[in-house]
Amino acid sequence: MWDTTTRDRRLVLAISPHVNLMDKKLLNNLLEGRIVILEIYHAEPLTVEKFIDRISSRHHVERRRQELIAAGQSHLFHSTTCPECQATIDLSNLNRSSYVYCRFCESIFPENYPVITNGSKYRICDECHMFDRVQGYTEFYFYFLLIVYGFSYKRRHLCDNCAHRVFIKAFLLNLIFILGISSAIWIKIKSLTNRDPALKSLSKATGLSKKGNYAKAEEIYNKLYQTYPDHPGLLMNQGLGHLFGGDGNGATNCFNRSLRACPNYQPVLRLFQEFETAANRRPK
Ligand SMILES: [Zn+2]
Ligand SMILES: [Zn+2]
Repeated sequence: MWDTTTRDRRLVLAISPHVNLMDKKLLNNLLEGRIVILEIYHAEPLTVEKFIDRISSRHHVERRRQELIAAGQSHLFHSTTCPECQATIDLSNLNRSSYVYCRFCESIFPENYPVITNGSKYRICDECHMFDRVQGYTEFYFYFLLIVYGFSYKRRHLCDNCAHRVFIKAFLLNLIFILGISSAIWIKIKSLTNRDPALKSLSKATGLSKKGNYAKAEEIYNKLYQTYPDHPGLLMNQGLGHLFGGDGNGATNCFNRSLRACPNYQPVLRLFQEFETAANRRPK
């Protein structure tokens, strides 16, 4: 298994590209050739996900250990266990650092200590790809077209900042028919309540970063670092703010700081990969 994630009752499994799948029926039902989506009942999808992650990560890390032993480099092997989901995380070849990222549950923690931000609450937003508090919302629209009326809804997982954008859209579109207004207001209330008190102003900083207003966002990030020094997700958001504001050097500086604090922080590693792909595509 390469990766897993849950969205409400659905469990998404990404099968490793190295696995040779023989079952034709399974192959025909895979998304993009390697993704399975299961709807789970009679058990919590998150519990099932953690169980799969615990087993598959242990196998993956053990294989890595055997490879290093075979190459005469066993001294490079280093692994740790995620305190949140108990997955085994491979840290071989990486410098010792302040934080470890668990790609299974998206939590961030100092090695051998409890998590500082739990991935079930604070992770990368599906829509804007920034680090923030992410929750599931139901977007509801009531419509009435002469004699036809009805409603449509969809489920989305959004950060507090994206939820505000959806609230404005749902509020304005439902305003004419009144019926959907309460669900629109619920989006706003949900996005404002139960935040980690120390990260209350994160959504504001995310919004400023999205607009490229990195100078104003920096004031907020600096306050957040007092509780979460060098948090890799906050540094990534701050870097994206510089990037959107046209300050490439400032962005690179933040991304490098993020990786120094947490060398296996995949959201920033993925960004670097995307930059590299874009640079290779550019005509020389
Ligand atoms: Zn974990
Ligand atoms: Zn978002």
